Amino acid sequence: MIRFNQVSKRYPGGYEALRNVSFDIAEGEMVFLTGHSGAGKSTLLKLVAAIERPNSGSVLVNNQNVGVLKGGALPYLRRNLGIIFQDHKLLFDRSVFDNVLLPLQICGFDHRESAKRVRAALDKVGLLKREKANPIALSGGEQQRLCIARAIVNRPSILLADEPTGNLDAAYAQEIMDIFRSFHQVGVTLLISTHDESVLQDAGVRRLALKQGELQPTSTGSGPA
Ligand code: ADP
Ligand code: ADP
Repeated sequence: MIRFNQVSKRYPGGYEALRNVSFDIAEGEMVFLTGHSGAGKSTLLKLVAAIERPNSGSVLVNNQNVGVLKGGALPYLRRNLGIIFQDHKLLFDRSVFDNVLLPLQICGFDHRESAKRVRAALDKVGLLKREKANPIALSGGEQQRLCIARAIVNRPSILLADEPTGNLDAAYAQEIMDIFRSFHQVGVTLLISTHDESVLQDAGVRRLALKQGELQPTSTGSGPA
């Protein structure tokens, strides 16, 4: 489903953020991407989403080489990808409901179907009762769940999350991970970057470990799945 083959990424200025990275993620797998700050986790996720392009090697998503996609093909890739990035940019001039509606409006869904999907997405993250609220009134954990609802309202087959529990305490982090596990159970492929020990402890989840741009030998977290 996601395949990196000898991928290197150098940013302007010469810094090599990823070096010869190769791995495969199968359909329906849930994988943690670990590593210290600066190890290249965000860069790797951006390459999957074709926000950045590799300098060498290939990035395949659903057998499509996304490193060479032309602009017109990007919306089709993105429609199949849910992305939860750190700088989540919720819109505070509209309701919780309308924040989740936005991706569907861009895709041109009709009103009834959209409303149904928005409520299904809010329900999955436990925010159905807050649909009329302004996101500014939500707690940090709720805002993060709102970001997840917005990312999955299109029912993407792949979900990418960059440090999704970064600013949350352990109980809220656990809620977020429970939501991800529920997507895993319905067959969504998940790639989640984290250096949150409370998240990594409860593993049984495959890990891809980055160290200064290089992938370390793979390991699986201990404990029950
Ligand atoms: P992580 O997500 O693991 O913290 P990043 O992928 O954000 O790592 O960064 C990897 C390295 O690439 C860091 O040294 C970072 O400073 C550098 N980097 C990231 N984005 C850019 C950019 N747009 N321009 C130049 N250097 C960047
Ligand atoms: P529905 O019967 O509501 O149209 P589907 O048959 O598409 O739903 O999916 C079965 C269940 O899995 C539903 O609860 C649906 O919302 C959920 N689901 C399907 N794809 C995704 C996805 N990418 N992310 C989250 N949930 C999903």
